[in-house]
Amino acid sequence: MGVIPSEPYNFNRLKELESEFLEQKASIKRYRFWGEKKDKKYTVRLINGEWSCTCNGYAYRGECKHIEMGKEMLSYEEMEDE
Ligand SMILES: [Zn+2]
Repeated sequence: MGVIPSEPYNFNRLKELESEFLEQKASIKRYRFWGEKKDKKYTVRLINGEWSCTCNGYAYRGECKHIEMGKEMLSYEEMEDE
């Protein structure tokens, strides 16, 4: 990944990379939450099953309430699918 091909373009390989990329895009979910004082926005992401958040709490502890809210929203979405 991230290596510039030194050989003539291999279109099959490019297609493979492209579909990998699209698959990854498809498995990304984003949720936006406002801070308690409504002065900040946080983005919670679920990428390939890994949660992350842009807030300080997540940066320090690796977990936060936004992720908890994201998980809750995800579980509602899953219920709607059924
Ligand atoms: Zn957070």
